[in-house]
Amino acid sequence: MMEESMMGSTTVEGPFHDNIIVFDIGGTWFRSGVMTTEGKLMAVRRSQALNYRNAPDRSIHQLQAGLVHYLSGEVRRLQTEFPGMNLHTIGISMGAALNAHTGLILNSGPLWGPECQPFDLLVSLRECEPHLRWIVVNDITAALLRQISEKSGRSPARVTLITVSTGIGCRTYSAALQSIPVDRVYGIQGEIGHIPVSFEYKNVRVELRCDCGSLNHLNAFCSGRGIELLLQIIPDLASEQFRGSLLARQVGSQAAKLTFSHFAEAVRKNDPFARSILDAITLPLARIIVVMLTVDPEIEDILLVGGVVRALREKYRESLLNQLDAIGMYQISSVDPHFFHHRIRYGVIDDDSGLIGAAIAVRIGR
Ligand SMILES: [Zn+2]
Repeated sequence: MMEESMMGSTTVEGPFHDNIIVFDIGGTWFRSGVMTTEGKLMAVRRSQALNYRNAPDRSIHQLQAGLVHYLSGEVRRLQTEFPGMNLHTIGISMGAALNAHTGLILNSGPLWGPECQPFDLLVSLRECEPHLRWIVVNDITAALLRQISEKSGRSPARVTLITVSTGIGCRTYSAALQSIPVDRVYGIQGEIGHIPVSFEYKNVRVELRCDCGSLNHLNAFCSGRGIELLLQIIPDLASEQFRGSLLARQVGSQAAKLTFSHFAEAVRKNDPFARSILDAITLPLARIIVVMLTVDPEIEDILLVGGVVRALREKYRESLLNQLDAIGMYQISSVDPHFFHHRIRYGVIDDDSGLIGAAIAVRIGR
């Protein structure tokens, strides 16, 4: 059972065989910490991520080498700081598409941009620090592992966790298999952020490029970065509504100054223009969820997490549910109008899921 201690650190149901150094490597932040054998997460520290946007002069190879340097440097720092803890096992939650069989990183658009090539992080780390035990797990997988380690009083056949953050992705856990199954060859599952979608605002089609380089993926519009791009485009498509909106008042009608924070505040204050943008953003995801539930009736729980969901809270779920109800589930919604409401809820939304999930991944030997 998860609980917040008075110190603000988190404990997770133990025991762990070893004290584990854990990392959460995201597009915006790098986090490190130590998971003790008793299941206490401690010594958490975060630093700004090294990515292709904040270090545009570095090549992808240099950014990847920078990550290895950060990881090995943090390991040495923590080993020095806690000499009695015998820290030789490291779990890394990685914000990247990766092959779960081999750990090979296939692509991380948020970290390394559209020119990103596959990168064998594990090989680099083992060359650099051969005496340590390294495990790499995808960050959404880590978040779902943390989620299912909690006792919720429910026993769904399958649980899907959807993260809407710098990027979008999902993972589905099978209770029957007691695992998160992946493609038996390619080792991936749930990369919905890279499904092509049609995005429209007031019947005007918008086209945007995804972090991976392809056109019109779900990520391109509906992730945190996608929303910031749309805030530069949609005011021109609906200039009258924009001029009368809270968004315009926040930035003196200069749409170029709009950020996600302005949008989140306007949504929370029920600004009609901001709500109309939110509805346009939740529609493509709603369409994908309907397809998921249609072909996989065992999905009985869908958990929403991620920075966008955290910032917009109940407004996000409300908009998503409105879109789902409008689309409907064939032969179900008509007899069960609460079908989606019962399935879609919030997961644990804090900053610790990657760190805790990385430790659980070590425990189950992923
Ligand atoms: Zn993509």
